[in-house]
This record gives sequence, structure tokens and C-alpha cells, in this order.
Amino acid sequence: MILYTNCNVYGRPDIKSILCNNGKIVQLLPSNNINAGKKINLNGGWVYPGFTDSHMHLTGLGFSLESIDLVGETSKEEALQKITEEIKNTPKGTWIIGRGWDQNKWKGKSYPTAKDLDLISNEHPMVFRRIDGHAIWTNTIAMDIATIDDKTEEVNGGIILRDSSNIPSGIFIDNALALIENHIPQKSKSDIHRQILKAQKLLNKFGITSIHDAGTSKQEIEVLKKMLENDELSIRVFTMINNDPKEYESFLKTGPEKDNPFIKIQAIKIYLDGALGSRGAALLEPYSDAPNEKGLLLLESSEHKKLVAKFNKANFQVNTHGIGDRAIKIILDNYQEVANSNLRNRIEHSQVVHNKDLPRFKELNIIPAIQATHCTSDMRWTEERLGKSRIHQAYPWRSFIDLNIPVSGGSDAPIETPDPLEGIYASVTRQDKNGFPEGGWYSDQKMTLDEAIKSYTEWASYASHEEKVKGKIKEGFYADFTVLDQELSSNDPRMILETTVLFTILNGNIVYQNDGK
Ligand SMILES: [Zn+2]
Repeated sequence: MILYTNCNVYGRPDIKSILCNNGKIVQLLPSNNINAGKKINLNGGWVYPGFTDSHMHLTGLGFSLESIDLVGETSKEEALQKITEEIKNTPKGTWIIGRGWDQNKWKGKSYPTAKDLDLISNEHPMVFRRIDGHAIWTNTIAMDIATIDDKTEEVNGGIILRDSSNIPSGIFIDNALALIENHIPQKSKSDIHRQILKAQKLLNKFGITSIHDAGTSKQEIEVLKKMLENDELSIRVFTMINNDPKEYESFLKTGPEKDNPFIKIQAIKIYLDGALGSRGAALLEPYSDAPNEKGLLLLESSEHKKLVAKFNKANFQVNTHGIGDRAIKIILDNYQEVANSNLRNRIEHSQVVHNKDLPRFKELNIIPAIQATHCTSDMRWTEERLGKSRIHQAYPWRSFIDLNIPVSGGSDAPIETPDPLEGIYASVTRQDKNGFPEGGWYSDQKMTLDEAIKSYTEWASYASHEEKVKGKIKEGFYADFTVLDQELSSNDPRMILETTVLFTILNGNIVYQNDGK
């Protein structure tokens, strides 16, 4: 038994100590003067239920920690400069991989080209994912390897940008990414293992005890299971299997695995549309800044419907990526027609929701899995894409919550930082870290602090069918805690960003301790 003592407990001012045994909370106690188990002093820290990031990419995060990071580069020249530096000592022929560029932050906002990268190297194939993950920027040698030229045909659900002589310019969007990326050498199990170790270390540092992995490969599941066996896993992982028959067939046959408290296999991730940044999100009406475009569907609606029916019938939850109001309407229609509502199917992102479709989330028992920092990162150009008449439909968190719909919070890391405190801050302010815009962006959709915390705890646990064991500090629940150096308060939201994680406790054990450095 372990007794965590000298602490304050979120929502329970009467409690000073928490007695844990076998990974669970045994007793909440009102005093520090108790003799039971091994005593650990939490130094007056504030104990919150362990934070869950309910939409992120685990190996993607690990990979981003070891690849070229172009997030925040404010011009194409700066991005090219950084790439030049980073590849100095890389042997010729090695693929250079990176991510995070955003032409919307660059002068002129136009897409870069292969020619820009060719000036750096004709001997390293290069692929850089856009910040939203829905487009790549590549160079000529990579296109040569992939035998891409002016005769390359268009891909369903994808876009290949071309120059005036029809030669692909180096930008590939959504389903067209694979034309290049299929040629990148495959990850080995040891690559995956190393990337998960790197990612979970960072997650624990941010106070995260659980994640929902939005697209887990069979190989990744094997590595996770091995790590658990070797006592190396320091987070709980709710997986979403990739939508690829080679990946899911074997799981479909054996059925969901719900009994392991650390690794759940009971959901599938399906992409229906793209993202707003690359105008891939499927909208009901054309983009305000591109009147001939309405976005992309990566799957036919009928295909999506078949998958929903197939997976729900086998008792797997279906989590569909839906950003634009057209995609979201199709998902809701298909869920309504063929889904089992007890499975709490989800719509990942749920960013632009038509007014008429909001109440359907409640009626059909659908969970919106939202990422508050997407709103505050993208708000500067969201209105250009959507226009005045439907901007109020964007990131409608308050509308969901007012309809009694649990909103599940997350980061979509590595697209955004996985820091839950940044997510909570964005949820309650709808401002960026500099406090822009004053009062918050479409501030009527803000969450309260309690709701924002719930989105990372209780509601996230509901979204993975674990609300009876996780997301609250309660006897019988998992002893998963995020211990902060102060109580979060919405009076001065900036303090949320200035709060530090003292301890991260998983299953009763400390997996991260702040040593003051
Ligand atoms: Zn994602």
C-alpha cells in the first residue's frame, strides 16, 4: 500500500491523503497524520485526476521529437535554412523527413515547391508534412524515386499541385500523399519502440497518464504489449486501429480486447475528410476564399457506412475524422442509419458543425473529440475559409456542452503540443498564449474551467468507456493523478500556463517527478 499525503485534492477540500493499493484508490482521508502503507509526501501539491489526451498520435509524437521540426518558422527562407543545417551530416541517399511547415504563416501564403528543396540537395529525398499533416512538400529526387511526372494521374480524394506544364510542383494533398510516402523505408519495431519511449516520457512530464491513439498499427500494438510485459509502459493507451484490411482483419476476427487496464483494442479510426488549412475539409457550401472548392471526401459515404456497420456489428467503436460540416453530416447520417449507439461512436475534431446537426450528437449518442488548441492556432485564418455567415459554427464547444454532450479533449499531438494545460487554457479563453484576441475568439463558445478539466478527465474517460474506473478521484478508481504546484483558477487564466506539474502518478506509482530543473 502507498499513502500519498500532504496534498490538496481537486473538488475535495476535505481530503489531505490518498491511500492506494494494487493501482487503485482505496481510501480518501481527511488528515496528514495517518500511518498506513509507504508514505509519500506530495509537498502540498494539487491532485487532479490523471489527464487523458483523447486524440493524439503516439509514434507520430515520438517521430516528431527526432525529425526536423519546422513549426514556427515564419518564412520559407527560414524553413530552408533550418533544413540545410539539419542535413549537413546526413549521408547521401538517406530520406530526410520532417514536419510542421505552414505556408499561411509565410509572406504571400503560397505553397512552396520541389525546386526550393532542390537547391538544398539533389541527393537526399525529402518529405515534409504540413502542420496539419494533410499535405506534403517534397523534392524532385523523391518524386523521381516515386516515378511521379506530368503523366501521373490524379488520385481520388487527393490533390497534386502542378506547374503550368502540368509537372507536379512538389505539393501532394490528402490521398495523394501516399504516392510519395509509400516509398519511404518502413519503420522497424525498434524504431517504434524508441519513438514510444520518447513520446511517453514527454507525456508524463506534461502530467498525462492516458492517451487515445488516433490510428494505431498492428505492429505498434505488438510493441505496446511487449512494453507492458517488460514493465516499460508509463501511460495507458486506448488504441484506434488503422482503417486498412491488412491491419484490422485479425482484430475483427478475435473481437475487441477490453480487459487489459493499460492497452485497449476496441475502436477503429476512419478518415472521411481532410483539414481546413489545406482546404481538404468537406464543406456543404464552397470555401469563402476558394469559391470553386468544397473540400475532399477521402471515402465515399457508402464505403464509410459499410465500415460503420461492419465494425459496430463486431462491437468496435467507430471514430471518424470529420472536420467540415459536409463530412460531419455524412458521418451523422451513416451513424444514424447503421450504428449501435451503445458503442459511443465518435467524430474526431468536430470542427465545423451545421446548426441542425448539433442536437444529433445527443440524439445518436455521438461524442465530439475536440482539440482546443486547433482553434487558437487556426483562428487567424479560419474566417477567411468559412466567411461571416458560418463562422459561428466553428469549434462549437459551448453548444455541445449546453446540449449535455460530453466533449472529449485532446491535442492531436504532434500537430499541437500535448501539454494539457495549454489545452485547458485554450478551452477557457479561446485566446492564444499571448492573450490574442482580447476577450477570446467567438468567446460565446468558451468552456468553464471545470468543463475544460472534465474534457481532459471524466469526459475523455467516457469517450473510451472507462468512466467507471478513470477520470475522477474516487475510491475504487485507478490511482492515476496529475499533481500540480497550484490550484487551477479561471480568474486569471494566464496562471494556467504558469502552472507546473510536480508529479505524474500512474496506477499508484510515480512515473514523473519534477526535480526543479
Ligand atoms: Zn489526428
